Amino acid sequence: MAKFWREDIETMSSEDMRALQSERLRKQVRHVYDNVPYYRNMMDNKGVAPDDIQSVDDLKKLPFLSKADLREAYPYGLLAVPLTDCVRIHSTSGTTGKRVVAFYTQHDVDLWEDCCARAITAAGGGADDVVQVAYGYGLFTGGAGLHGGSHKVGSLTLPMSSGNTERQIQFIQDLGATVLCCTPSYAAYIGETIHDMGLSPDDLQLKAGIFGAEPWTEEMRRSIEKSLGIKAYDIYGLTEISGPGVAFECCEQKGMHINEDHFIAEIIDPETGEVLPDGTVGELVFTSITKEAFPLLRYRTRDLCVLTRGKCACGRTLVKMAKPMGRSDDMMIIRGVNVFQSQIETVLIEQGYSPNYLIEVDRVNNTDTLDISVEMTAEQFSDKMKDLQDTERELASAITAMLGIRPKVHLVSPKTIARSEGKAVRVIDRRKLHD
Ligand code: ADP
Ligand code: ZN
Repeated sequence: MAKFWREDIETMSSEDMRALQSERLRKQVRHVYDNVPYYRNMMDNKGVAPDDIQSVDDLKKLPFLSKADLREAYPYGLLAVPLTDCVRIHSTSGTTGKRVVAFYTQHDVDLWEDCCARAITAAGGGADDVVQVAYGYGLFTGGAGLHGGSHKVGSLTLPMSSGNTERQIQFIQDLGATVLCCTPSYAAYIGETIHDMGLSPDDLQLKAGIFGAEPWTEEMRRSIEKSLGIKAYDIYGLTEISGPGVAFECCEQKGMHINEDHFIAEIIDPETGEVLPDGTVGELVFTSITKEAFPLLRYRTRDLCVLTRGKCACGRTLVKMAKPMGRSDDMMIIRGVNVFQSQIETVLIEQGYSPNYLIEVDRVNNTDTLDISVEMTAEQFSDKMKDLQDTERELASAITAMLGIRPKVHLVSPKTIARSEGKAVRVIDRRKLHD
């Protein structure tokens, strides 16, 4: 039986949801127009007045906001309330460039924590659970978001932050953590360390994990579920829109429900900006309709995914987004072929390797090169040493079948690739450095 944090909202009919969104959107557009000169100029330049926006259907009349706009407006340019009304600042991880800062009123923090409470509840968490929060605390939104959500749900919260992996495992054991929250790459690392310490999932009481903040494949999910003996749930969010909990996975584990009472989602063609129908891959765009301090309208996330509507088997009616498999600017074009890190990860895990790998792209004599270093497990290391080159060739062929271009594969010794306690960096594109 699915558990809900806000059943009234999470199972609302699509007509009622649209009416709620339209009402909130009208208010939000007025708020932003009146209080943010940067936004007012953008709307005036496009010839759009607040009264032109009456319902969700009118959203397309509004201009988009991009990360570049946020950087230009840094730090206070998009603030929509007096600074004295704000109680918190967070910042992006800066994965793709200069950090962006976001502001929160107490109301904004409350609604964000409410979204995270929905995610914890959907993963089966409740007042009897011990929630270990191993996302980083600080400017990063991961720690604070899940921490706040866990408090709301009434779970016993362990504010571990990331790092100190052996202590994480000691607390999982000694304090009986039942829900683990961290990045999927850190979850994989914790699972690996548990194995190295001679422990098995049966020694732990963990039942669920809530993992997000970076892309991860279905293969990675299965591998983590096995190593920790849990059900692993995806969670999505971004600092600009609030933080984790913009969307969360339910027991079906087939896409994440977007908290539509707070965020309107659209999918657009990243080239033309045209709105695409449900079921089509494109760039995800969010409009926050309840935030006070930092309300972004039509913010382009650069995350590529698909939206699907309809009632989910869990009972929720909230629109679902597929796992974003990278940002539009993360797509590598190598020898003219589009390549995503996730495709390579899929092959590696399917072939029995760990998710410890590094992709390096460069340009040598005007030709793109693709080198993939793949770490062997201790068992693979002893088995495969003698036919290392054959194994590398086989793996290169499996990747070629997926990508359409041939990489050079380098099998490397166990524990030689750096582990991640936060967001993993698995691609180095040196071509960008030459440009
Ligand atoms: P930065 O953009 O600097 O990494 P954030 O920490 O706000 O800053 O990260 C938000 C981004 O992280 C999202 O736009 C998305 O690309 C990625 N992300 C977050 N959750 C997920 C997830 N569950 N799956 C894939 N990518 C995710
Ligand atoms: Zn569902």
